[in-house]
Amino acid sequence: MATSRIPGRSEGTPVMQRQSGPLVTTRTTGKLLATQGYVVGIEMSGNGLRQTVALANLEGKILRKIRRSLDHVPDIKSVLSLIDEMLDDVADPEYLQDGRVLRVGAAVGGLVDARHGLVRRLYHAHEWQNFPLQDYMAERLEAPCIIDNNANAAALAEVEYGALAEEGNGNRKSEQVALYVGLGQGIGGALVVNGRIYHGASSTAGEIGHMLVKEHGLKCSCGGFGHLETIASAQAIVRRMIGLSIEHPESEEAIRRITGSRAERITAEQVFRLAEEGDRVARQVVDEVQTYLGMALANIIHLVNPSIIILGGQVAQVGDLLIAPLRACIHDLCLEEARESVRIVQGKLGAEANIVGAITLALQDL
Ligand SMILES: [Zn+2]
Repeated sequence: MATSRIPGRSEGTPVMQRQSGPLVTTRTTGKLLATQGYVVGIEMSGNGLRQTVALANLEGKILRKIRRSLDHVPDIKSVLSLIDEMLDDVADPEYLQDGRVLRVGAAVGGLVDARHGLVRRLYHAHEWQNFPLQDYMAERLEAPCIIDNNANAAALAEVEYGALAEEGNGNRKSEQVALYVGLGQGIGGALVVNGRIYHGASSTAGEIGHMLVKEHGLKCSCGGFGHLETIASAQAIVRRMIGLSIEHPESEEAIRRITGSRAERITAEQVFRLAEEGDRVARQVVDEVQTYLGMALANIIHLVNPSIIILGGQVAQVGDLLIAPLRACIHDLCLEEARESVRIVQGKLGAEANIVGAITLALQDL
């Protein structure tokens, strides 16, 4: 691994900013002014479908944002050259008139070693083993960079700017144990304890998509079998719905109706709607999601005793159709003392959680 020439993160120290020569401390009344620099956030999806670069001020307000996709499994070169291009645009000197980029945060859809700044693995691309993305971005932007898994970043964003922040409980967020569950194409998860991401010994804490919930289950993206991701991710829900409907003409017809005869485009949200309308196949798929996700959450609740569970990602967009039955499930499966202290809510940032999370990572390091 290459060693960065740029100083790494340092918690609790004043921010130093180069201003025409010597380093000077720019912290004023405990908080940096929004006009004294910028942060850059980078979102990289694990499957190439979504790359985002954003420039934000030090209050977290996004000033510019570009989003692009790649239509294939991303090799390192094509992803980095796309992001380089986007950085050129977003962080053009023309837009940096009030200072320079002070921190870079990157949210990556794969296994990330946050402590060492490495992308350990992207499940859909082989080249990324132990790629030093943190050093690469730090050198590219000449500013310290923080990288983390996208679920960890999204969790932090929901705590700071989304589900928890909107509750107006101010300092209480620093006392919370928040569990974030990102139900997207895969399933990510994260624990935020006292306002900080809990990484565990090797940065894999919160990988709840790979919890074993079903013996002899389907093969997972990681190579294992019967993991939660094979049942409750958006991709799993859609695949199961299409697969099961082959034997059920009425469900096939319902899929055609709801997708305009483009069955392959059906979304997890549409499967939930069909279940609500009474389609038997959709009901079965959704019941399996509720059962196994409920079981996984109940186990986590007993292990870490969270105060809030925030559900994000595409599947969570169905709101109460997912959350109300999950609450009932938790009620049935958990000890009274454990379930009484936990609230289950929908994330507030939706599809923007990862990029806001990347920005939050950068801001939290200042
Ligand atoms: Zn797995």
